[in-house]
Amino acid sequence: MAIKLLGPAQTVRMRTEADVTARVERRAAADGQQVRLDRRTLVAYVSEGRWVADCPGCRAGIAIHPEWTTAACLGVGCYRLYTSIAVPTDWVEIETALDVRDKVNQNALPGETAAALEVENEIHRGEIEIARGERIR
Ligand SMILES: [Zn+2]
Repeated sequence: MAIKLLGPAQTVRMRTEADVTARVERRAAADGQQVRLDRRTLVAYVSEGRWVADCPGCRAGIAIHPEWTTAACLGVGCYRLYTSIAVPTDWVEIETALDVRDKVNQNALPGETAAALEVENEIHRGEIEIARGERIR
């Protein structure tokens, strides 16, 4: 499924899930290191229009695709591969709720639901319409 927000294809040019493993292996090898499989669970959230998670190993941002079960930290010296990713069950609705906003305001914290984001949209409807050119200032 195509995602509305930005995923690994747009942010780090990894178009398939296989690219994730290949990329981190290449990076680690170039640095004389090996990829480490990390079994901790990444928690996906949206930051300025991008699906991301924080690496528990080094705190770097990791590009997430909400439909993939693999993600990798490309942080220098980290090179962790994750196979457990907690994606909100209502991620499609979250994308729809955020789609009306400017990229800088496309944010969903861990645990934030689509319903809560729709309430925020309602509260900020005027600003959203101005930003979208649907209302004159
Ligand atoms: Zn890391």
